Amino acid sequence: MPQEQDYIFRYKINPPEEENLRNPLLELMRAELASLGDLLILFYKEEEVKVDGFRLLNEREVIHELYLPKKEAEEGRVPENIHQQQEQWALPTPQLIENARFYEPRIEHIKKVLEKILAVVDLEVEGKPVKIDGFRLKNLSHWLGPSSGDPAEVFDHLATRCDCACAFCYLKGHPPTLSLKQPARSAEEEYAEALTRVKYFYPERRRALFPTLGSPYEILAHPYALDLLRELRKKTDRPLRLSTNGHSLTPKVIEELSALQPIYLYLSLHSSSEERRKLIMGAKKAEIAIQALPLLKESRISYAVVIVPWPLPSLTEMLADLQETIIYANAHEAHLIEVSLPGYSKYFPEPPLFSRDELWKKIVETVRSLRPKVSTPIIVKPSMFEEHLGPEMLNLPWVAGIVQNSPAYRGGLRSGDFLVAINGLPMSNRPQARDLLKLYHQQHSSKIVTTIKRIGEKKDIQIDPHDWDYPYHPALDHHLGIIFPGAGFRLSALEDLKSLIISHKAHKVLFLSSTLVKPYFIENLKQIALPKEIEIQVIVPPNRFFGGNIFMGDLLVVDDFIEAIKEYLQRETAPDLIVLPSTPFSLGDWRRDLTGRVYKEIERAVGIPVVLLDCEVIYD
Ligand code: SF4
Repeated sequence: MPQEQDYIFRYKINPPEEENLRNPLLELMRAELASLGDLLILFYKEEEVKVDGFRLLNEREVIHELYLPKKEAEEGRVPENIHQQQEQWALPTPQLIENARFYEPRIEHIKKVLEKILAVVDLEVEGKPVKIDGFRLKNLSHWLGPSSGDPAEVFDHLATRCDCACAFCYLKGHPPTLSLKQPARSAEEEYAEALTRVKYFYPERRRALFPTLGSPYEILAHPYALDLLRELRKKTDRPLRLSTNGHSLTPKVIEELSALQPIYLYLSLHSSSEERRKLIMGAKKAEIAIQALPLLKESRISYAVVIVPWPLPSLTEMLADLQETIIYANAHEAHLIEVSLPGYSKYFPEPPLFSRDELWKKIVETVRSLRPKVSTPIIVKPSMFEEHLGPEMLNLPWVAGIVQNSPAYRGGLRSGDFLVAINGLPMSNRPQARDLLKLYHQQHSSKIVTTIKRIGEKKDIQIDPHDWDYPYHPALDHHLGIIFPGAGFRLSALEDLKSLIISHKAHKVLFLSSTLVKPYFIENLKQIALPKEIEIQVIVPPNRFFGGNIFMGDLLVVDDFIEAIKEYLQRETAPDLIVLPSTPFSLGDWRRDLTGRVYKEIERAVGIPVVLLDCEVIYD
């Protein structure tokens, strides 16, 4: 599609609300200050300044509250007309501010301020007042932000539709205030936006147009998916990593994808049985994805097989199918098998659907019984659940599996090996092992000697990074083909915690953790020598926002933290510092949770300083 001009990013503003019109000049000041409070941290002489009210210089006797309680309707409000599909899009459909605010909250700030300004002045053109109901971004190069350089940041914007109806689809059970809505637009209009995103995508400089959240559906269901991938391939030789339900993986599509190498597919096969794919995924042409595996191998496209074991129609049938699907993926040389432990929120049609821990244990038992029988590495997500079941290997550099035909595989490393050293450099935990392996992987070193322990016996294994074949590829792997169960917990985070506590001169600290991380966190706290007078208490907030059987720390939102802290304050004396891991606030750089709210709201609600501890996501 020829596109000379940039796609126009438009945003709607709302007309002034009745109640604001009573004192619109005051509301203008409040909106500007409150909105800035979500974007900035104010300082005076290197000390952070907290503000919760203001006085007008012309009315100094009255203190006005800065943050008024949010009205329920305000959250996730979508402008009217947004869902009417436009046949013609000479005027592009407005974007949703609710989606943009995770990565570029200054757009929401502009909207709030404009709305308040328009309550007190009229704009003019050539002496005549004009009414406006929206704004657009002027020069897109002003709106570039940090990028990982991964082309998925661009093509994910075309994942706007899906041709399946999975029983476990997270889009079925997401809370209404989660910003996963999208404006309904024609495929052509979506493609036009994506092409503009390609234009402003600078993978080497690690800059790109800020993304929007939206709904991550099935990219290959989009009629322009392959066109966009071809455009991106002209721009970068980085791997294209696509998630797909496999419904579109016909021989023709596989051939076209093969011309775009390096490419990696996360193929959500879920089952190698046609009948079962129909049952749990609503896949109409269930055979296409199943038949794709040998074709992908023939085309040398590396792929991971993703399985969400969903206990339908019964647990026994589900476990039997899990085994068969793993054996099928292994027979066709999948690069990796990822088993995602299933969960559901309280918004799923009929919770409770199953007992989480009981089901998850059965799935892990099945995976463990299969690992020695297949060559393809199998990982379980979240990996920490498996690791808590023992043996005691949490955060240690043990090998969950080795990619077939990778340098590590050909050198002789195997699932269950325990890494002790690389080229004589010892390692004591998993992040260290991953960092060292990544270094040697990137350096293309000629020979690497890994010291391992296998069934209690130490031995040296030589790895030649240049000795590899399909499904391994050095552009797709990071650790010479070694697959760990998860990224592991970086102990440097505990040193950072110590520095935070000392710099805040805190004595009693409340740390909010997650069910899976808490035991490991408490165990390792002993390693940091904290002064005796410092007390750290660790609590786990329940995932009330998602509910159901969701318990992942990264899915906690501002309100979950506020409620948990308030409950804690009812039974304990107040701490002088609250520390949260940064991972629930890691969408973009603006410290927003999954609902677009900033962590600073927690501090305002509980009246105690809140800081974030920078942490990595525990699984990768
Ligand atoms: S393929 Fe993905 S997006 Fe489509 S229904 Fe299944 S889980 Fe949902």
